Amino acid sequence: MNFRRIPWRPARVGLLKLCVIAAAVVLVLAVGVVFAQGVSPSETLLLRSVMPDADAFTERQGGPPVFRGYRTDVGSGERELIGYAFLTSDIPPEHDGYSAPIEVLVGMDLDGTLTGVRVGRYRESIIRIWGDFLRRPGVQEQFTGKRFTDSFRVGEDVAGITRATITMRAMSRGIRDSAWQVAQEYLDQPDGSGGTGIPAIGDSALDRSSSVGGDLLSLEEGAPPFEDDQSLLSRTISETPPMRVVALGMLFAFAMYAFWRKDRFMRWTTLVATVAYLGFIDGGFLSISHVANSIAAGPSLFARDLPLLMLGAFTVATTVIWGRIFCGLLCPFGAFQILIAKAVPRQYQRRVPQAIHDRAIYVKYAVLAAVLVPVLLQSDVSVFQYVEPFGTMFFAGASSTLMAILLLTLLASAVVPQFYCRYVCPLGAAFGLATFVTLSRIKRVDQCSICIVCELRCPTSAIRGSEIDFKECIRCDVCDVNLIERSGSCRHSIEEIRGRLKNWQSAPN
Ligand code: SF4
Ligand code: SF4
Repeated sequence: MNFRRIPWRPARVGLLKLCVIAAAVVLVLAVGVVFAQGVSPSETLLLRSVMPDADAFTERQGGPPVFRGYRTDVGSGERELIGYAFLTSDIPPEHDGYSAPIEVLVGMDLDGTLTGVRVGRYRESIIRIWGDFLRRPGVQEQFTGKRFTDSFRVGEDVAGITRATITMRAMSRGIRDSAWQVAQEYLDQPDGSGGTGIPAIGDSALDRSSSVGGDLLSLEEGAPPFEDDQSLLSRTISETPPMRVVALGMLFAFAMYAFWRKDRFMRWTTLVATVAYLGFIDGGFLSISHVANSIAAGPSLFARDLPLLMLGAFTVATTVIWGRIFCGLLCPFGAFQILIAKAVPRQYQRRVPQAIHDRAIYVKYAVLAAVLVPVLLQSDVSVFQYVEPFGTMFFAGASSTLMAILLLTLLASAVVPQFYCRYVCPLGAAFGLATFVTLSRIKRVDQCSICIVCELRCPTSAIRGSEIDFKECIRCDVCDVNLIERSGSCRHSIEEIRGRLKNWQSAPN
């Protein structure tokens, strides 16, 4: 039997062509509408990335400003409103991460369910070390399918990013609060116009899903945005895991015990705990980027992270009272250098010639200026990642350039104890300047002008005869322990010292 299939082929091809032409016409019409409404093709592409089912969008209108998303029925050519897209930056309050608000484009359907999220501009300092971490696979995508009434709590129904919790919280809050406001303004209006009098495309706004009526209930019953009734600090306190506070409190207790009691064992214990906990486990160490960000975005930065606030307050208080205890005990990178200096045999360590040292210590103040001047000029230029390898080391930075800088720094610190602290660290330079107001300083006694035991043992070469350059002193207390603190005066015999000093070559700790 001959089924005469061949004659159907042209007919089928014709139908296919017809469909293609019809689709093209629809597309052209849709694009025409888009252009008529002022949304460019590139904007349309972006908007479709958060609302894939829409083929046309109005320009941003209304209050809060939204792009209305429409789907065109291929058969009838009618357009149906299917949702709204909006920028979190258009809808206050904006929520700051570590540096600034995080702009996000959000799509939401008429049920109040998010259809997509795209991160726009953000300036978190950790970008310099990690790269574009908010656009890593899975970060934005996890918001799709959430309803505006969800809690959006990081660590509960939104996965956090270790060491970027503040950023994720700011992003989540921004999305939820703006979605909430858009839902309140637009989803409870029967015509979808939000009562703003803004013309919709065609009359399909009336074609809204009948389920929207059911959403009115959830609009009224849902929880309000996070922080309407909470101050920033009280919200931060309530969101901070207690264990982070306890662990940091214990580290402070270790440090103060080591400092007060001049206890060597506790000092080494604190140094190891600082590297392990503040550096590798928690990552909540102080950085020059915090100083820069607090200048750029205000000191409220510290109120968004309770352990950071505790560390900042502890550091300021102890620096004003005793000097750079932070550098001596609570900086993980400084502590790591001390551990390296302890591990490297003395014969491999070198002292920088005094004349060079005396000049080189001012390099770090130039580095501090290089970090802070762009911030003061409100420039986007950032150099801190090149001069402060903390993040590269403890956050496992991916950049080979930053990794090379880290390795060179560690190598230099193995040969010259505390090399980075002495000559490069901008944070140390900032603390050095702060020591001009320090109240309680290390005592020196008459023998110090002759005996140079402490001078040779000082890890930062801060001692010169009977003087201590206190801005360079990291309160390691090597010179205090056993020499002055416990006896009230230096117990060294000058004659013995003269004999020992002849052979003293290295720069021990
Ligand atoms: S000088 Fe810098 S690296 Fe050294 S301990 Fe102080 S803050 Fe840390
Ligand atoms: S040895 Fe003395 S002067 Fe030198 S850093 Fe330690 S505490 Fe300061």
